Amino acid sequence: MLQIITYPNPILTKQCQPINKPTDLQIKQLITDMTTLMRAHDGIGLAAPQVGHNLQLFLIEIDHQLTVFINPEIQKLSGKEVRLEEGCLSFPGKYLPIIRPNKVKIKFTDQTGERKILKADGLLARAIQHEFDHLNGILFIERAEANN
Ligand SMILES: [Zn+2]
Repeated sequence: MLQIITYPNPILTKQCQPINKPTDLQIKQLITDMTTLMRAHDGIGLAAPQVGHNLQLFLIEIDHQLTVFINPEIQKLSGKEVRLEEGCLSFPGKYLPIIRPNKVKIKFTDQTGERKILKADGLLARAIQHEFDHLNGILFIERAEANN
């Protein structure tokens, strides 16, 4: 069974690799296991490096709406800069105010292999930016430092 990897494990700061076949059985299983783990920890987002997989994959679940992002590309960040407290399953009990733009446009592949574009704002946009950072080895503590 998967486990959440916590800071300062070095896997959290590595660049993740694209997934060649998003509909492969191994990827489907990983998505299923990550979903279970995220829900067990009451998380709203979880990225593959947080469970030890150096892959461009993350999940977000807000208001019972689960979205799977594979090989995501952020196309646009816009809207006003908003400061809000964030947490991270890799930093249990730690909450930090982070400034991020309120809107995001992201291109990604979903779990059925379909390429999609999503425009999001508010909490979803924030979660997308937080999880996307994980795929580039960027942690929210670095964003918090950059704010000051
Ligand atoms: Zn995180």
